[in-house]
Amino acid sequence: MILNVNNRNYATPKHPTVVVCVDGCEPDYLAQAVAHGRMPWLKRVLAEGTALIADCVIPSFTNPNNLSIVTGAPPSVHGICGNYLYDVATDTEVMMNDPKWLRAPTLLATLAEAGASVAVVTAKDKLRKLLGHQMTGICFSAEKADEVALAEHGIADVLGLVGKPVPSVYSADLSEFVFAAGVKLMQQAKRPDVMYLSTTDYVQHKHAPGTDGADAFYAMMDSYLGQLDALGCVIALTADHGMNAKTAMDAQPDVIYLQDVLDGWLGASKARVILPITDPYVVHHGALGSFATVYLPAGVDQAPLVKRLAAQRGIESVLTRAEAAERFELPADRIGDIVVVSERSTVIGTAAARHDLSALDAPLRSHGGVSEQRVPLILNRKIDGLDMNHRWRNFDAFDLALNHAQ
Ligand SMILES: [Zn+2]
Repeated sequence: MILNVNNRNYATPKHPTVVVCVDGCEPDYLAQAVAHGRMPWLKRVLAEGTALIADCVIPSFTNPNNLSIVTGAPPSVHGICGNYLYDVATDTEVMMNDPKWLRAPTLLATLAEAGASVAVVTAKDKLRKLLGHQMTGICFSAEKADEVALAEHGIADVLGLVGKPVPSVYSADLSEFVFAAGVKLMQQAKRPDVMYLSTTDYVQHKHAPGTDGADAFYAMMDSYLGQLDALGCVIALTADHGMNAKTAMDAQPDVIYLQDVLDGWLGASKARVILPITDPYVVHHGALGSFATVYLPAGVDQAPLVKRLAAQRGIESVLTRAEAAERFELPADRIGDIVVVSERSTVIGTAAARHDLSALDAPLRSHGGVSEQRVPLILNRKIDGLDMNHRWRNFDAFDLALNHAQ
């Protein structure tokens, strides 16, 4: 059967199909873990399957990219352009976790509607309602694995299924629980036809590629993916965004406090700086990322301001709303008057006084910019004839898995 979702066609699967979004999976994490002999399954897949580098959507944050992967479309279509936004209509700053912000159907809901059994497991609960919007099937988070109910989550007992306790939200175990649950679901007699697994980037925010902490995480992941492969699954692995060190030479966060800068230029609180990285879990990144959007007061001459901002050290690009909407495929009505992207090693803050960096116990690593746009797109099946010069996107994962890898 062929399904049309957001103007793309998808075949229903012949084999159980798993799409994995590894949060914050800068490609170098895989390269280093493979080099260190910690990912034997992936090493074989890279040689015998399909290995592409793809672009994620900008801002390179979790919610926009997870929703792009499950809708097969950019934020201009699905509407989720950050983890957090300024709602102009109500003059409030809100988390973008509510499905009311979603403007497009997900492939998961459409597959379920067509009769496929679908399961979604996410690390953090913040994504669950968006990913499971209007979807019949199993949908739960590792974070709240002990709070499931059949009517709401499509499953009555997750802890019994997985055989592990509820992990801490700030731990590698939270992601391991996702993989463990995925394997258990696939081992059941009535296994899912399609599964979407989404981890958390707690490890990637703390540990650089090739370090023991990172390699141990990827070794764990490799063993679960090997089990899913052995169960006959078609696997597509991608990421929501990359991850880079964001520090000065003294290992302190290299921050441009944009609200403070604009307060100095335009007067206190005249401009409103929004950081779409903001989410309920800020301990490991202090709400600092490489992307900001700014609402300017009426009457400000934008062109000289854009030029002045673009000349600041550490700023990579400053775009007007129209330019950003076009270049990054964003919904113009949900971004500010200008969009500011910082360089690979710098992050953007609001006002220095509004960021509590005391909980950062390792040199800052973060994302959000164009410098974190490159992500892996890997399938455990060989797909012949793919154009390696095509601009592959992480939201091509379901297309490749369902249309080319069965
Ligand atoms: Zn993420």
